[in-house]
Amino acid sequence: MSAIIMNIILFGAPGVGKGTQAKFISKKYNIKIISTGDILRNEINKNTILGKKISNVINSGKLINDKLIIKIIKKYILKNNLKNKILLDGFPRTIEQAYSIDNIGLNITYVFELIALHNTLIKRILGRRIDSSSGKTYHVKNILKKRKISKDKLTIRRDDNIKTAKKRIKIYLKNQKKIIDFYKKKSINKKIKFHKIDCNKTIKEINENISKILDI
Ligand code: AMP
Repeated sequence: MSAIIMNIILFGAPGVGKGTQAKFISKKYNIKIISTGDILRNEINKNTILGKKISNVINSGKLINDKLIIKIIKKYILKNNLKNKILLDGFPRTIEQAYSIDNIGLNITYVFELIALHNTLIKRILGRRIDSSSGKTYHVKNILKKRKISKDKLTIRRDDNIKTAKKRIKIYLKNQKKIIDFYKKKSINKKIKFHKIDCNKTIKEINENISKILDI
């Protein structure tokens, strides 16, 4: 019997909650997350040649050029022989990147377009805090409830400021339509399942709405 393919793209603006939903899906369905943002930040933290090359671009809110990010993701997928049970968080971000997924031969089965109001995105980005000891992400509003977190271990991403956040959302909006159209077209002949998810709701409600689709 052939294994059922479940490869997912989480597509959405910065701050919409892709990372949070990715973790939920990963845990519930045993799926590996590939977050291009995390891969790139890891290079910066390790101070690699690549990290040095990209840190200014990331901190300014711009996108890494397509050729480079496609090379990184291709290498990552081929090296780890990933064909099934993977979730892409933050890739593709341009139509060229979307084409590259087909070129790699990765079979995408679900695309979730996560949507939220501009104000919600900004509030989520500006409230994001990272616990440097665990690497976990929280919203500042929810931290008070978490007794185990030491407040002085909390960090803020360098690109999580109002100016850069607005720029990142603007870049997203510029590229969004082509990518959505590309996947909507594929969903007509059932090559992929495309779903729009309202992310103005609570994390739990969003989890439930995604589960309703993936549990079928
Ligand atoms: P994220 O963690 O997904 O918000 O990504 C943080 C930053 O990493 C972005 O603002 C970009 O500078 C860079 N980045 C992440 N994914 C991509 C991608 N697919 N293409 C280009 N740049 C990316």
